[in-house]
Amino acid sequence: MSSDPAATLAGQSVLVTGGAGFIGSHIAAALAEDCEVTILDDLSTGDPTAVPDDATLVEGDVRDARAVGQAMEGVDVVFHEAAMSDVTRSVRSPVEGHRRNATGTVKVLDAARRADARVVTASSAAIYGHPDSLPVHESDRKTPTSPYGIDKLAADGYTRAYADLYDLPTVALRYFNVYGPARGEREPAGVVSAFLDRARNDALVTVHGDGTQTRDFVHVDDVVQANLLAATTDEVGAAYNVGTGTAVSIETVAERVIDLVGADSRVVYDDPREGDIKHSRAAIGRAREQLGYEPTLAFDDGLSTLVERASVSN
Ligand code: NAD
Repeated sequence: MSSDPAATLAGQSVLVTGGAGFIGSHIAAALAEDCEVTILDDLSTGDPTAVPDDATLVEGDVRDARAVGQAMEGVDVVFHEAAMSDVTRSVRSPVEGHRRNATGTVKVLDAARRADARVVTASSAAIYGHPDSLPVHESDRKTPTSPYGIDKLAADGYTRAYADLYDLPTVALRYFNVYGPARGEREPAGVVSAFLDRARNDALVTVHGDGTQTRDFVHVDDVVQANLLAATTDEVGAAYNVGTGTAVSIETVAERVIDLVGADSRVVYDDPREGDIKHSRAAIGRAREQLGYEPTLAFDDGLSTLVERASVSN
């Protein structure tokens, strides 16, 4: 395990696919000062204002092998974040989702194989579907309930296969529910941002279902930490959960957000989302032991920081 992954990566050439998006832009920002950072993003949902000044933005598509091959020239490490990350959109457009999330990943891995570049792939807790027991371990049953989860399972499997078959150093990171500040003008997707937006406008905060469903919310800074560790570890060819190991109910999130913002909002309940998972919580022992990953922000602290930041910039 690497003691200071950022120092190990200093001077290297890094490609961040989807680097104009929420998580990719944070990874790019963490490395832009000491590495040569290129971002490949088709800007389908990404925000150019999120791209750090020191990084080079190449507008291109991970489905386009030529664009990927060109962006990969001389690259040492790839952080593959590009995806259609909206589960609802993947249900509406499964073919497009498959191309962006599964085919796009194979193209990135294949270009990396030719360039001999290391790859860290963004996988997802969505690959597990409804867990049999909690916390969810990496080896648990995987029965994804959405096209998004199915494509991410393929991406996760291809990432491992490229290590097994071609000796490419790859790691898949299975993110749980990532939250944190936007780097650019576009707010990240997800329930925390949505609730914050409503509370800041003193509007009704809508919870789907009865609000007792729970999620493992992990701060984007800790997701960046996991990525840097994965980019420098010897423990390649494996997948790791990236969460905190604790879960919070959606109703609690709504109440905390309203309280921290000091809003006059009220929580209202709507129909449950179809296929919604009741409980999700990561077992993070493998990431701890093999990568040296340790979440640094408990949800309450991460949320307070986010609300403070939002009120400063408003
Ligand atoms: P995001 O939507 O903010 O970022 C995705 C980026 O990929 C966008 O900038 C988009 O323009 C770009 N993109 C999409 N299709 C592309 C293509 N074909 N070619 C090039 N660029 C393309 O999403 P995010 O929240 O930053 O997620 C990053 C990664 O982490 C994704 O792979 C997502 O599936 C995964 N993930 C996210 C979460 C979360 O809670 N945010 C949880 C689990 C997994």
